[in-house]
Amino acid sequence: MKTNYKYPFANYATKCPKCGQRRFKQYLYSDGTPIHPTVGRCNREESCGYEYKPKEYLESNKILLKNYTRPTKRISTVKPKPMYVDLGEMKSTFSNHNVNRLILFLCTKIGVEQVYAAIKRYFIGTLRYWNDWATVFWYIDQVFIFFDIFMNNFSNM
Ligand SMILES: [Zn+2]
Repeated sequence: MKTNYKYPFANYATKCPKCGQRRFKQYLYSDGTPIHPTVGRCNREESCGYEYKPKEYLESNKILLKNYTRPTKRISTVKPKPMYVDLGEMKSTFSNHNVNRLILFLCTKIGVEQVYAAIKRYFIGTLRYWNDWATVFWYIDQVFIFFDIFMNNFSNM
């Protein structure tokens, strides 16, 4: 007997799409998810004989996919160069927490200590922007030990 090693059968039976009996075994993908509720084999070979093979299903599905035109999108292969900001400049944004709306808002929701933990964890800065203050989220590619020291220094805010 040939075994379909690529698509194993489910070890449970479901309702057969043809005869309606709970004798239908679905074909599964390798991760255990059924290919489609109708893709499988009824084990009432004599009286029903329903079988829908994964190959047949996938082939007919491909026909459907052919009719669907994917919007063409040009993908740029040129990687933008990262822009680096001086550490001193970054550090200067870790002040003025008392005017940062996000930080003030968080203080009304969670404790001050937790807010400071979040500032430290996500490097939340405050920056003068136009005539207002803005929240800055720094992207950091390295964790600086001295950043920790710096954060401890201003924790008396
Ligand atoms: Zn059946």
